[in-house]
Amino acid sequence: MRRGLAAGNWKMNGTAASLGEVEVLKTAHPAPAVDILICPPATLLERLSSVASGSAIATGGQDCHPEKAGAHTGDIAAGMIADAGGSHAIVGHSERRADHHETDAIVRAKAEAALAAGLVAVICLGESLDQRESDQTLDVIGAQLAGSLPDGLTGANAVIAYEPIWAIGTGKIPTIEQITEVHDFIRAELVARFGAEGEAIRVLYGGSVKPSNAAEIFAVANVDGALVGGASLKAEDFSPIIAAL
Ligand code: PEP
Repeated sequence: MRRGLAAGNWKMNGTAASLGEVEVLKTAHPAPAVDILICPPATLLERLSSVASGSAIATGGQDCHPEKAGAHTGDIAAGMIADAGGSHAIVGHSERRADHHETDAIVRAKAEAALAAGLVAVICLGESLDQRESDQTLDVIGAQLAGSLPDGLTGANAVIAYEPIWAIGTGKIPTIEQITEVHDFIRAELVARFGAEGEAIRVLYGGSVKPSNAAEIFAVANVDGALVGGASLKAEDFSPIIAAL
């Protein structure tokens, strides 16, 4: 039985004032039946981890560099995320793939770096609107799974996030049938490659999840939670999503 995971990706949002949202979540969910994760911008990770300390809320980075250290201005190593109190690293988000030209091979290297630092890798994949409309979705997802996932993934060290690019921040979501099809496909691919651990790896849906659609999405058998962008920024939005899981 996989435990649900409600993960928030704050992207390039949040300053010290946002830490109050975490205080509200802590009070609202003292002993949740699901796991909660917040990935703030790197500038807030240590402070947010300190606010979340002792609560059920885990924290993580939104990206990590494949290498442990070195001359990479502006980048953050996985070990630095751990040092700042984080336990997870998102890798391969479509905004990173697009804005920073990250290929599957780079995403895989980043996921390997996260695992080597003892972090849980939250590995993102998803098709573009063109790919969806030209019926290439499962081929694209299959190729991203094959290219972006390192060997040795388990339910304890990895989470997959299926995020159709056209659903991110747009208010559009796939139909429940489309979500079901892709999540069933991802589950089958994970089991084919990782055996029993493929059953244990959680598969999140991401893309315009909000309080009004969360319950319907979470009712899909192979949806184990959500990676939430915009609706994770305010406790009043994220809290009902957590409660729906
Ligand atoms: C995301 O960027 O991971 C995301 C799912 O964003 P939103 O919830 O805002 O669509």
